[in-house]
Amino acid sequence: MLQGMAHPDPLAAASLEGAPDYSTSTLSLYERTGAYLRGHFRLTSGLHSPEYLQSAKVLAYPEHAETLGREMASELRTLLSGKAPDVVVSPAMGGLIIGHEVARALGVRHFFTERDAETNRMTLRRGFEVKPGEAAVIVEDVITTGGSTKEVVDLLTAAGVTVLAAGSIIDRSGGKADVGVPRVALQRMEVVAYDPADCPLCRDGIPAVKPGSRKS
Ligand code: ZN
Repeated sequence: MLQGMAHPDPLAAASLEGAPDYSTSTLSLYERTGAYLRGHFRLTSGLHSPEYLQSAKVLAYPEHAETLGREMASELRTLLSGKAPDVVVSPAMGGLIIGHEVARALGVRHFFTERDAETNRMTLRRGFEVKPGEAAVIVEDVITTGGSTKEVVDLLTAAGVTVLAAGSIIDRSGGKADVGVPRVALQRMEVVAYDPADCPLCRDGIPAVKPGSRKS
């Protein structure tokens, strides 16, 4: 396996150029940067899984972030067949870096939403303003249930913005997550996930860890 390769191949970004099979190259980037974790994980959705994709470890390499951003922008351009967004919007924290890189590749601004600590609702802060009639795409690192992306879609739609599409580096739902707008992903996966009440790893007494950014 590639797990022992803690340091990424310096040619990784270059080797992706001219290789449109993102599905293979994306996952190999996760493998090479140690971002593809195996163990016993408690996902944000509440489900347990024997694997977890820690996108931050891939995106820690600016050249990989830029490459993935370009690839997603290319997929979005194809999906939108020429219709350009005014802004890329991402839910913090996971969507920040990849959203920024997609926005760079599309030549538009990048905003991000944050969860209000009191109401737990997604909000646009920091002077980020959208106007009715503007068009947006939503970009996230990983879609599992699509919940966060859907919240951003709803927030922008309520503000009169047309959400054209959504994109993620990884789609853990195997294409099933419905966020209410067309969607692209560089890598589709069917990830094994268990209800905590019916989790074989729990039955084996293996402690579950929460690898994401939110506190457990
Ligand atoms: Zn478990």
